[in-house]
Amino acid sequence: MNEYDKNKIKEERMRNSLLAHYKNKKLLKILGFVFLIIGIILALIGLISFGISFNNMSMPNFFTFFLLFPGFILIGIGITLLRFGFMKEVGGYIKNESIPIINEASEEIKPAIKNIKEAIVEEEEEKIHCPYCNNEINKDSLYCPKCGKELFKECPSCHEKNDIDSIYCDKCGTKL
Ligand SMILES: [Zn+2]
Ligand SMILES: [Zn+2]
Repeated sequence: MNEYDKNKIKEERMRNSLLAHYKNKKLLKILGFVFLIIGIILALIGLISFGISFNNMSMPNFFTFFLLFPGFILIGIGITLLRFGFMKEVGGYIKNESIPIINEASEEIKPAIKNIKEAIVEEEEEKIHCPYCNNEINKDSLYCPKCGKELFKECPSCHEKNDIDSIYCDKCGTKL
């Protein structure tokens, strides 16, 4: 087994442990939320039941406490699980081990970003044809680079440079 294979296996192992780690955290978060929600529901029912019996001047029944205490215990468990699920102590571990994955991911994302960027740039540099010489030019060019003619209509009222095919000034509405 050469050094390259060893590194590959090591990398694979790191990735698997990281994935398992994330899975565990996800499970903790899900369990935490479930415990928390059930706990809140039980505690609420318990409290409402307690409130009703208090209003009736009767002794709170056993059922009330049967819900209230497990409710609070479940809330406590839920919060603890969530704390573990979102804990930052493992931050260093994640930071160190996920860097190769992040780098790899960014390598895969880069071309996609480049394509998007190019698409946007293309969008910005929309081409039109010069109405005088039919040369292809950028839409926002003010003069044709081939024949040198003005490619805008200056507004007589506000001097805004409007597109050559504008009928009214897009700034003040004056007829051009
Ligand atoms: Zn031209
Ligand atoms: Zn104008």
